[in-house]
Amino acid sequence: MSTIDANGMLIDPKVILRRSSGIEHGALPSVLAIVVHQTDSSTAESSLNGYQVGGNGAHFLIDKNGQIYQTASVFARCYHVGKLIKSKCLTINKNSCDTGAMAKMLAMSWVNQINAIDAHERAKPYPDRYPVNSDSIGIELVGMHIDDKTYEAVTAAQNSSLQWLIEELYAQFNLKAEDVYKHPTVSYKNPGEASSAIWK
Ligand SMILES: [Zn+2]
Repeated sequence: MSTIDANGMLIDPKVILRRSSGIEHGALPSVLAIVVHQTDSSTAESSLNGYQVGGNGAHFLIDKNGQIYQTASVFARCYHVGKLIKSKCLTINKNSCDTGAMAKMLAMSWVNQINAIDAHERAKPYPDRYPVNSDSIGIELVGMHIDDKTYEAVTAAQNSSLQWLIEELYAQFNLKAEDVYKHPTVSYKNPGEASSAIWK
């Protein structure tokens, strides 16, 4: 198992450290989950340059050739999930939802509905809800979107590196396979994002 140093960086020959403090937004007090993304950029360099500017980003970036970069400390919060999370109970097991509250929200207009569901879900502890920025690590895979429903395929080298990295993070943070999510599962995104990412 690799080590995490005092700055929250993963020390391993497989990982190049390219930390951008501009994508770190306060402390990440605990890591309960991992969210897997695709960048919608064509190269790692363009994402790394974007992270230098600051704003949204994730903790790790995996290039098409499988090279892993750590781009933010695992002790820091990154903005990678988005503002609004979906309802996990609606997706996984409707019977476990608060049916009265959910019926009221589902009767609202779309914009009101997704805002109300987000607030309702955030009041729950993980894992009753999907992960949020304040309890999850983000992993970005370099890859472009193709259309409204599709992204380019994750490469075999990316999936191999993703598997290695996720296993390291399982060990470091005592996580399990059910704690790893594709971004469109968690929030309202192009459903093709990370759809061909594979891990155990
Ligand atoms: Zn994403």
